[in-house]
Amino acid sequence: MLTEARARTPWLREGSSVPQQQVIRDFGRSRAKAQKDIAERVPVARRAGMPKWKTKHEALPTLNYTRCGFRLKGGRLHLAGGIVVTVVWSRELSAEPSSVRVYQDSIGHWYCSFVVPAHIQPLPETGRVLGVDWGVKETATTTSDAYDLPHAEHGRKSRAKLGRYDRMMARRKPKKGRLGSKGYREAKKLRAKAHKKVARQREDTGRKWAKKVVRDHDVIAVEDFRPRFLAKSTMARKAADAAIGATKAALIEMGRKHGRDIRLVHPAHTTMDCAHCDARAKHALPLGERTYTCTTCGTVTPRDKNSARVMLVRAGLNPAGADGGRPPGALLQEAA
Ligand SMILES: [Zn+2]
Repeated sequence: MLTEARARTPWLREGSSVPQQQVIRDFGRSRAKAQKDIAERVPVARRAGMPKWKTKHEALPTLNYTRCGFRLKGGRLHLAGGIVVTVVWSRELSAEPSSVRVYQDSIGHWYCSFVVPAHIQPLPETGRVLGVDWGVKETATTTSDAYDLPHAEHGRKSRAKLGRYDRMMARRKPKKGRLGSKGYREAKKLRAKAHKKVARQREDTGRKWAKKVVRDHDVIAVEDFRPRFLAKSTMARKAADAAIGATKAALIEMGRKHGRDIRLVHPAHTTMDCAHCDARAKHALPLGERTYTCTTCGTVTPRDKNSARVMLVRAGLNPAGADGGRPPGALLQEAA
């Protein structure tokens, strides 16, 4: 059908057919995923979304080229349709890439993202496990105090700046259906730039923490946090949300890179369960309540520490391997 459409539509014909085919394939895949989720009665909040409509003036370009659509020659990227791109390489490709995505970010920079088979860089075994709970005050509370990550509040310093750019955009906002003025686009770009800076800082903090956690633990049980649950509400909440998202992504990526076992734990009831006796409280703790008191076994623990421990238990791990201690297996081996 694409061939037919290209024959009839001049502007479609102008572009290369390779990324167009890929766009159709991506669309088909996301549709299939959305329909599968509906058929399997996946809760709405966890469903894969249908692709959104984008208009030419709002959407940023992103093009995917599969194997026959691109070629690397002398460090330059040759794309289908006779486009040659001089690439500034951030690192060497570890293997022959199977595809490349060329895209523009919100501040107008272009990137090429190559898909290569992942190579695991194993780290020495540690005999230690860690449970991680995400939160607002502390981005990560863990079963071992040394790995707790306080919220870095990267968004705070730039909040004034962002507010200024927001007002600038509001003043210069184009009438409905009209294209934005040069001033409007400029304000939009400044705002995107400020956002990007905060995102990079979050990424950096997340990566440093993830590196430490992954280096010192074999198995990490972590709350499978979905930002959209907390996203509505205050700026502070939104900032915490973004920090958690970036940190979780960094942890999963770092775990994959070094062959560690990262177990995602469903977040339901994690603040209600007791990590020591497995009893469930009758009511959810109010957010202000920082201490968890178990009515069944009488254990009193800081709320987030209890949740972090619940992650371990839910992932089927022995909490004895946390708190800096070693699991019984490791002790036996040492004794032998
Ligand atoms: Zn208990």
